[in-house]
Amino acid sequence: MKIEIINVGTELLLGEIVNTNATEIQKVCRELGFSIFYQTVVGDNPERFKECLETAFLRGADMVITTGGLGPTADDLTKELSAEYLGLKMEFREEEAKKVFDKCSFLMGSDQIPKTNYKQAYYPQGAYILENDVGTANGCVMSNGQKRIANLPGPPKEMRYVLNHALLPYLEHYREDKIYTYNINTMMIGESDMAQKLKDIVDNQKEVSIALYASEDHCRVRLAVKAKSQTEADRYVASAKHIIEERLKEYIVKEESLNEALFAIMPPYYIDYKDDFRLPETLRLGKHYSHSKTAMRLEISKSKHRLGDIISVTIHYGDITEAFEVAALKDAALSYARIESRIVANLYRFLKKNTRSKRS
Ligand code: ATP
Ligand code: MG
Repeated sequence: MKIEIINVGTELLLGEIVNTNATEIQKVCRELGFSIFYQTVVGDNPERFKECLETAFLRGADMVITTGGLGPTADDLTKELSAEYLGLKMEFREEEAKKVFDKCSFLMGSDQIPKTNYKQAYYPQGAYILENDVGTANGCVMSNGQKRIANLPGPPKEMRYVLNHALLPYLEHYREDKIYTYNINTMMIGESDMAQKLKDIVDNQKEVSIALYASEDHCRVRLAVKAKSQTEADRYVASAKHIIEERLKEYIVKEESLNEALFAIMPPYYIDYKDDFRLPETLRLGKHYSHSKTAMRLEISKSKHRLGDIISVTIHYGDITEAFEVAALKDAALSYARIESRIVANLYRFLKKNTRSKRS
């Protein structure tokens, strides 16, 4: 099923609030195996909202999920406009009016509730109600036979509740195969070398899609497969994964991240700062911090360049010395993450190289 999301609210366009609703809906749709190719934010404007609906269905959406604009005030028009767009009449529902009265009188502590609240008792003909037990505005799903629209409330807590307790169970019936991904992280092999080694498997892939990603410090093979369950997915990828792991054996990093991988093999170490530059104190490269003679010493200094700072790192380990530099634009303090990741990558490479050469 192809889903589009339309988040309604001028405050979203003005940068006053973050669109957290969109992210939550995306996660649920992903879990259900649905595709989301577009997501739109639009202000509280009737014409533009209907234009967004039209665009979504024209480019192939089976269903549009909206958030916001279900409140009792005159500018909350999402439900009415959605119905108008699909050519559905609004109907008064006795049982919904009773719910509105119950909730509002309970919240206000009075039997006199504003007439405008009864706007929330009108629903498009044939609409399926999405119960909102934590607020007054229920959501709904409406359809004219071809196009389907689900309206969810705007306040994040209500949105989340209705999404998980009402819309999700409704959408369960349409659950599709979902994408399962597997990452194989490697170090010390370039993307083109890796592509060469895996060319035949990549060219012959059918159900399993195989993609290579290179970042500054390491490469990653990503296998993706559509399946009904994790076990089924594991079965589909088993043979391709096995071949890839065999061919890349000596480059594979088993841990989730390079930081973890380094942490596991890092000998006792200490950092010897040569000037005022400091890495964050929270940075831990390995288990043991030690000033002993056999410990690895990392000498770190900073020099100035026209465009920023250059951090020089010299590794002293036993009788081996190796140095590298990391450049940071403007000011090293603005690029800790980059400096850290380069130090981690270089140390990992250093240790792998030197422990390997010791073995041979
Ligand atoms: P109400 O009954 O409160 O009017 P509503 O369904 O009409 O509810 P909106 O008026 O559009 O919803 O939004 C209510 C509040 O919810 C907004 O002021 C904002 O703080 C928050 N909100 C709306 N949309 C989003 C969103 N997409 N992401 C995060 N927060 C949102
Ligand atoms: Mg509102």
